[in-house]
Amino acid sequence: MTTPLLSVSHLSKSFPTSRGIVQAVDDVSFSIAAGEAFGLVGESGSGKSTIGRLALGLITPTAGDIRFSGQSINGLSERALKPFRRQAQMVFQDPYSSLNPRLRVRDIIGEALDTHALAQDRRDARIAELLDMVGLNASHASRYPHEFSGGQRQRIGIARALAVEPRLLIADEPVSALDVSVQAQIITLLQDLRRHLGLALLFISHDLDIVELLCERVAVLYLGRIMETGPTDQVMKTPRHPYSRALLAAVPKADPDAPRMKRLVSGDIPSPLNPPSGCVFRTRCFYAEGPCATDRPVLAPAEAGWQCACLRDPLPEHE
Ligand code: ADP
Ligand code: MG
Repeated sequence: MTTPLLSVSHLSKSFPTSRGIVQAVDDVSFSIAAGEAFGLVGESGSGKSTIGRLALGLITPTAGDIRFSGQSINGLSERALKPFRRQAQMVFQDPYSSLNPRLRVRDIIGEALDTHALAQDRRDARIAELLDMVGLNASHASRYPHEFSGGQRQRIGIARALAVEPRLLIADEPVSALDVSVQAQIITLLQDLRRHLGLALLFISHDLDIVELLCERVAVLYLGRIMETGPTDQVMKTPRHPYSRALLAAVPKADPDAPRMKRLVSGDIPSPLNPPSGCVFRTRCFYAEGPCATDRPVLAPAEAGWQCACLRDPLPEHE
């Protein structure tokens, strides 16, 4: 097997707070091959953004390891992290706050280019090239962020991310602040960039429909743990984990079985300060029984490339 571009193993991150310790990410492992799109889905607070920030080396893990092309970034100094930072770039959720309003587009993208120390004419040409890659044009370089629509601003954010020629884009809910019609255009752009540049994508979203459009594989997160991971079409068509089933049932255009599926989840997400013992999902799970309160389910292979962390896997057909 070839070495993955990004591999994350037994990754955990806890945040000490005045109210106790928040276990934001708990023993998460996955890998992304060069050029592959991997989706992370889960409700708000499930640890998606924390995983993205860990993968970029912006915060350090409490436990576990992150590797780029087989090389661990654990314990590296800021300086030693630099080459890894260039391999992975972030596209943020909010295109309004993620661009400095006082800078022209030229300088927003130029900042990212500075490490390359390009001559001025080469630099302008590169900025024009980057704008073209994201569907804008060279004349946009002299404008300020407020002169653009939300979708165009997200394109500028993507151009900035591409400036250092990364191999992986980490896109944290990159379209959830945009109108639905604009969402599709940005998704298409990301698909095109993948195809043309061979970019890998860690795509973070609470929207399973979008993940299905973009990602070959997906991991479903709940309270910092992976409940199920596998090929997106399989996980979406025949989800194994009760939580994946519930998430899918929450998608508005779900199948006619949706009302029945909704029974599979009840109540609110428990506090991450005090997660349930055993299986963290059991307090909302229709299928939970005795051992679920005491035994922690591990991600076990269900089929090739498909893993599920449920003591009751495979679930009974009719219950
Ligand atoms: P998501 O992106 O899936 O919404 P996050 O990764 O942002 O989830 O957060 C996961 C959990 O960690 C949440 O309970 C959140 O409140 C907590 N958390 C995230 N960052 C911090 C921090 N810097 N300090 C304390 N708690 C944090
Ligand atoms: Mg988030």
